[in-house]
Amino acid sequence: MSKKIRYTIYGAISVVIIALICVFAFSSCGTNNIIKIASKDATNYNMELIYNDDTKSLFGSAEVDYINSSQDTLNEVFFHLYPNAFREGAKFKPVSEQRMNDAYINGESYGSIQVKNVKVNDKDVTFSIGGQDEDILIVPLTSQLYPNSRTTISFEFDVTIPNIKHRFGYTDSAINLGNFYPIACVYENGAFDTSPYSYNGDPFYSNISNYKVKITLQNDFVVASTGELEKKESSDDKTTYSYSAQAVRDFAMSISKNFKTISDKVDGININYYYHSDTQPEKSLETAIKSVSTFNDLFGKYPYNVLNVVETSFVHGGMEFPNIVFISDDLQSYEEYTNVIVHEIAHQWWYGVVGDNQNENGYIDEGLAEYSCILFYENNPEYEMTRQEIVGNDLKSYLLFAEIYGDLFDNFDTSMDRKLTDYNTEPEYTYMAYVKSVLMFDNLRQLIGDNDFMKGLKQFYSDNQMQFVTKETLTIAFESASNMPLTSFFDSWIDGTIVIVSQ
Ligand SMILES: [Zn+2]
Repeated sequence: MSKKIRYTIYGAISVVIIALICVFAFSSCGTNNIIKIASKDATNYNMELIYNDDTKSLFGSAEVDYINSSQDTLNEVFFHLYPNAFREGAKFKPVSEQRMNDAYINGESYGSIQVKNVKVNDKDVTFSIGGQDEDILIVPLTSQLYPNSRTTISFEFDVTIPNIKHRFGYTDSAINLGNFYPIACVYENGAFDTSPYSYNGDPFYSNISNYKVKITLQNDFVVASTGELEKKESSDDKTTYSYSAQAVRDFAMSISKNFKTISDKVDGININYYYHSDTQPEKSLETAIKSVSTFNDLFGKYPYNVLNVVETSFVHGGMEFPNIVFISDDLQSYEEYTNVIVHEIAHQWWYGVVGDNQNENGYIDEGLAEYSCILFYENNPEYEMTRQEIVGNDLKSYLLFAEIYGDLFDNFDTSMDRKLTDYNTEPEYTYMAYVKSVLMFDNLRQLIGDNDFMKGLKQFYSDNQMQFVTKETLTIAFESASNMPLTSFFDSWIDGTIVIVSQ
């Protein structure tokens, strides 16, 4: 996601560096055919959706060919039901109190998901709804599921879409379908991760999977989606679009009668820009093209054939999903709009291909997406933004925030790896995951030098494609690139013991 952070103070200031300890470095090989390999042992989702514009609802039927990729034998499988965060009375709300009026432009509106007819290997099972906030579907299996074995779980679901400017919600401009279907929870350390929704950050964590999705809707809608369009079949008033996506972490769409589309190609990748009010669409597409080109060169190639950039209603700056990014039509300046395009596209590398548990480690994908913007501007000087200016502004801004929060809270916590729901306020999360993380990566670059920093990013990308990364994998990549011990560097930034000062 991209947050709107504005600065008024300009100037170049550097960050004080901290002490280090030695650690062993290790790295593994990347692969050229990453999608083929990653899709082989992944869960397959096969979904058919019917969208009803009169009721702003979706009917879905899904068949999930689920693979147990853990080392444990499973007796049940859990799925997130994210639309239930949008229901009336939800404990974990999708927007903070401060943003309610901006998000619910026509007053409060509710959404939800109801699951029915759950079957395992074609046998009816009695499922239950659990989790901290009625947000987990628990499916009992008909027999034990051993490691690397598969079972077929099928269900139907009714989705009510709320009137809200969010990842999941509709406005007059578009209908955003992010996190709208039951998605399997990640199983790790002997349990399914059932983290609830949070208005902080992007509260999502899911395994690489394969998708076949059909959506049927009125002919006059334009569909922007994860994956590649395989087939389009039209009748008198309805069209069915069939999409296929291999080795992606999620599946999202945005649909609208207002979308216009322009397209171009870079490094063999089709880039489509869907927009409805952008007065300079060619410039936006050009920024998207340059982003993909720059990041392909700097980090390693985007492995998919398509990337869709969508101008849509969204209360925050933007939102990333695999193969598709949402850019808010609310952004106030063209510079800000450009920045969000670059940031969200960078997430295709950091979140999409290299994944992390965003419920705890958002500082990795958000910090890297923000830092990728700096690298983008360094490599595309025509945008007239410099590293010195951006990092200087981040430092000024962070110091001011720390001063205010230090006064407000005793024991002001500056750790970066808390659960999303453990942050006191939305700005606190934004400053830790975005601003402080940028300062950390810039400090790392000062410490190990430009060459080893870029080598480390390349290595981090190639070693961890289609995997989940942590502080430890981050440390390994940069230690390997620089041949320097970096454990205490990352520890002190991330656990909050480093004190950042200006000089
Ligand atoms: Zn982001």
